[in-house]
Amino acid sequence: RGKIFSNWAKTYQCQPELYFIPESIDQLRDVIKLATIHKKVVRVVGCGHSPSDITCTSDYMISMEKLSGILEVDVDRNQIKVQGGVKIERLHKVLEEYGLAISNIGSVSDITLSGAIATGTHATGVDFGMLATNVLEIELLLANGELMVCSRHQNKEIFLCALCNLGALGVVVSIKLQCEKSFKLEQQQSSCTLDEVLDNLENEVRSCEHFRFGWFPHTNDAVVWKCNRITKPKVDSYNWFWDSIVGYHSLQFLYWLSSYFDSLIPWINRTFFGLLFRKPKYRVDDSYKVFNFECLFKQYVTEWAIPRENTGIVLRQLRDWLNTNNFYAHYPVEVRFVKRDDVYLSQNYERDTCHINIVMYRPYGKFIPHDRYWKAYEEIMLAAKGKPHWAKAHSLTYKELSQMYPQYDKFCKIRDELDPNRIFINRYLTQVLFEGREE
Ligand SMILES: Cc1cc2nc3c(=O)[nH]c(=O)nc-3n(C[C@H](O)[C@H](O)[C@H](O)COP(=O)(O)OP(=O)(O)OC[C@H]3O[C@@H](n4cnc5c(N)ncnc54)[C@H](O)[C@@H]3O)c2cc1C
Repeated sequence: RGKIFSNWAKTYQCQPELYFIPESIDQLRDVIKLATIHKKVVRVVGCGHSPSDITCTSDYMISMEKLSGILEVDVDRNQIKVQGGVKIERLHKVLEEYGLAISNIGSVSDITLSGAIATGTHATGVDFGMLATNVLEIELLLANGELMVCSRHQNKEIFLCALCNLGALGVVVSIKLQCEKSFKLEQQQSSCTLDEVLDNLENEVRSCEHFRFGWFPHTNDAVVWKCNRITKPKVDSYNWFWDSIVGYHSLQFLYWLSSYFDSLIPWINRTFFGLLFRKPKYRVDDSYKVFNFECLFKQYVTEWAIPRENTGIVLRQLRDWLNTNNFYAHYPVEVRFVKRDDVYLSQNYERDTCHINIVMYRPYGKFIPHDRYWKAYEEIMLAAKGKPHWAKAHSLTYKELSQMYPQYDKFCKIRDELDPNRIFINRYLTQVLFEGREE
């Protein structure tokens, strides 16, 4: 009792009536039973990184931190089976001991594997699907207290729901993940103009295994990162003064100052690009250290995915909007690429995608107005067949989402069968799964 939950960015908070940390599946089952008897909502929390209220509830919240063990490692097949509460940063360490690694991960590892899978978390690389596409098997504890194993060979339709489940199907108690032999990555950082990268995009995305770039709003500057697997010795590019004092602390101070004088922002973006990103940089390190990158301080973010061919149109429209609407945006606008898949609620369902992330930082935790920017961005993304990231706050309801996803109604039907009393449904899930739906 008395636990106050805040997400990582401290943009959403809730006070669950009861907060549980079960130590066994039986205890977990007891919580579900209790919730059913008392007609309470149950939400499982991973690391609380989602920039929305997807995990929030004022009823029962479950932390899986004591159900986070390693169950099996199969070195011959490069596979690992873990409990539902395991964090990705722990997985890296365990996998490393066995000479294994995850094939592709996003910007942070301080999240749980279950949380990442629930929201369609992705990294970058045109030949790499989102993280969940490496999952071989998921075990769920359902609302009726039963355990169900699903995979491509067993309960396949439920599996295709579970690979992007929003925490709405049940509690994920174990996951089997396909990995690969551990590897190092080399990262080449270079700079160019936004128009150069957009004009040559199809070649660029195929020029390496993991391609991404960042655009600096109010400039035509872009920084490009290209990563490839390599067997060379490590090369470090970290510089305490430039990366920490300038790139973190001075930036935070200047963005804070710009909350009083927002016309400083174009100058900040230009100056920091010149100081930190104009010169090429080279780095070689363990894969997960290169995949992860510095996300700096607390922030508002939103990210939608569009068909890859719409990347240029969208970024140019966003640039035009910023140029003509007197709104000053923080850097970077981050652009990544993901391969198509067949997961029912995946943003990449049957389409190769580009994911565009916009950010407004909260220097020293300060509120920074961003509604106008978010609204314009959503309109541009919607017109370009965009779909919002499930972890990140957005305004869409069942009504719009069911038109965007060919398998949306199938997901909803399967979900309703597994959880007829809606014990896993909170405010966010009511919005996306029920608002505007004929009962
Ligand atoms: C700094 C930062 C960087 C990020 N970088 C990326 C990125 O590179 N790419 C990207 O795609 N996203 C990114 N995200 C979003 C992030 O990957 C997702 O929000 C992810 O869901 C967070 O995992 P978590 O463990 O914190 O889950 P939480 O936020 O705690 O929970 C997310 C969802 O998972 C459900 N859940 C968690 N555990 C279970 C379980 N055992 N059973 C059932 N449901 C469960 C919760 O109920 C909730 O619905 C980033 C977010 C931040 C704050």
